[in-house]
Amino acid sequence: MPLPTAPATAAFEGGCAFADGAYVPLSEAKISLFDWGFTRSDATYDVVSVWQGAFFRLDDHLTRFFASLDKMRLQIPHTRAELREILHGCVRAGGLQDAYVAMVCTRGVPPRGARDPRLAQNRFYAYAVPFVWIASREKQREGIDLHISLRQRIAPASVDPTVKNYHWIDLVQSLFDAYDRGRDTSCVVDADGHVAEGPGFNVFMVKDGTVHTAASGVLEGVSRRTAIELCERLGLPLRIAPVPVEAMRAADEVFLTSTGGGVLPIAKLDGVPLPQFPGPVTSRLIDAYWAMHDEAAYRDPVDYRA
Ligand code: PLP
Repeated sequence: MPLPTAPATAAFEGGCAFADGAYVPLSEAKISLFDWGFTRSDATYDVVSVWQGAFFRLDDHLTRFFASLDKMRLQIPHTRAELREILHGCVRAGGLQDAYVAMVCTRGVPPRGARDPRLAQNRFYAYAVPFVWIASREKQREGIDLHISLRQRIAPASVDPTVKNYHWIDLVQSLFDAYDRGRDTSCVVDADGHVAEGPGFNVFMVKDGTVHTAASGVLEGVSRRTAIELCERLGLPLRIAPVPVEAMRAADEVFLTSTGGGVLPIAKLDGVPLPQFPGPVTSRLIDAYWAMHDEAAYRDPVDYRA
């Protein structure tokens, strides 16, 4: 089926969605009340950024999205090349230079009364909206205070965390824990009490010059991967292994990684200032993260005239 051409009307200015084969204004992008994506969180998604007119690491996000679809036994009616074109179309129609671009596949609506997921027609959606930061730039300057919640991330044996998913009740409740304590955001732990991840980000710490992050039980974030690759490039010692909460409380520096902002320094853990904010290692990684956006290998420029 040929793809429709991305529209060029004022109705799309500031954002555009693609739902069930057509570009639609954001206000018209809706899913059915009976879609299992809503009633069972039976969906997968991915989010890629556009920065200064170019997608960053789009190939890596597409690869992760198609891997997630396979693991979830979901299918979209588009090839990889078509999906790329749809995402470009949403950004182009929205006229966005810096954007948050999501692709979503839900199980869909099985025939009335049926409880067999194989009978559902999977649904595909995408949208581009202005860039979303995990924490506002003002808060980043002021210093993010991270609450380490003792809530456990849903077990990896139950929900594969490498599939980007909407099983966020644990993460959202940990945010309430954080706000109740006057903190800015939160992360959760695994069943062994090791630091897992937070609502939309992976967590890193630095101790005596070595960078540490969880080995498993978390989403393999594309920004996490970028930070890992940058540690290798910059010759920073790196240890990918379980991170006990006590080790993180004794860290020199802590930072988060997310498509929503890249490498974000943490100033305090549960109200206690970290010794270095932003620390020297985090600062180098932040600079290297943004510099990488200029490398041709990771850029996929949007053609706004197409
Ligand atoms: N962990 C979770 C639970 C997430 O939802 C996200 C992103 O939304 C991340 C980690 C970071 O992943 P990425 O760097 O690909 O944005």
